Amino acid sequence: MDPIRIAVVGLGKIARDQHLPAIAGTPAFSLAATVSPHDPGTEGIPHLSSLDELLKKGPAIDAVALCTPPQVRYGLAVQALERGIHVFLEKPPAATLSEVAALRDRADKAGVTLFASWHSRFAAGVAPARAWLAERRIEKVSIVWREDVRVWHPGQAWIWEPGGLGVFDPGINALSILTHILPRPVFLRTATLSIPENRAAPIAADLSMCDTSGAEIHMDLDWRQTGPQSWDIVVETDAGTLRLSRGGSVLTTPTGTEHNEDLEYPGLYSRFANLIRGGRSDVDMAPFRLVADAFLRGHRETVEAFHD
Ligand code: NAP
Repeated sequence: MDPIRIAVVGLGKIARDQHLPAIAGTPAFSLAATVSPHDPGTEGIPHLSSLDELLKKGPAIDAVALCTPPQVRYGLAVQALERGIHVFLEKPPAATLSEVAALRDRADKAGVTLFASWHSRFAAGVAPARAWLAERRIEKVSIVWREDVRVWHPGQAWIWEPGGLGVFDPGINALSILTHILPRPVFLRTATLSIPENRAAPIAADLSMCDTSGAEIHMDLDWRQTGPQSWDIVVETDAGTLRLSRGGSVLTTPTGTEHNEDLEYPGLYSRFANLIRGGRSDVDMAPFRLVADAFLRGHRETVEAFHD
């Protein structure tokens, strides 16, 4: 079977750190081109400054991975879907829920694959955590996602703009794990969003959620963390405590700790190839809905200005 010719659009941090190596390591794909307005590209691969230019001039492609900031993702996805090109959306899948719904409809009508990816769901501990929790009664969940924005997002202006999500940019990763490992749907009760006086998006957030059987879920998100960073989810159950730490890669249950090699992006590309070959899409909006609910229902407080 011929490899799927893919273009990576938005040659920024995640494209270079994860997408290019994962594509190189997945025989189902061949990297046909890269696209970015201000980047020189990588040696030996055709590089264009816009998707428009790539679609006009070639090379021919079967799929795109959209690794841009979320605010421009919808327009790029439409351009690709209109031409029957399969689309891999980095997280979050777009800037609004209605954009994602419109993309899903368009992909279905065109018979093209749309993959709204959630990389943290492919962290090593997540699948075994989901399997372990499937048989348990969930009593309480605590999420602590605290990192230093200056270390992880230096100079990323888009992340502070409307649609950039602020601290929910990493926080949605925790929500993508939560909504995958819990056996029941989750909804938001209350939220507080802390927004710097000079920014449009929150630097911290505190969320109270629950699942449909009433189990309490608390989430503490903060970008002002210095020193040790935390990406931890603790689930208390009738059979003891499960802990997922380091963003989902380390799993501890009452029987011990597992730390397997993380293959998040190879896992995503293998899933994308399977979806394309099977003529299917995968668009789960649950993590994005919870973020939207926090913005809809959250109380906003203004906090001190943030400067990079
Ligand atoms: P980034 O470093 O700011 O890169 C974004 C890239 O998008 C830039 O290279 C920019 O190109 C390009 N771009 C902007 N508008 C474009 C357009 N209209 N057409 C083509 N390219 C365009 O951001 P990032 O950290 O890689 O994050 C990108 C996405 O991946 C975000 O949604 C983020 O949540 C997600 N993500 C990031 C990480 C991470 O660790 N950083 C992890 C997982 C997922 P120029 O620089 O050439 O202008």
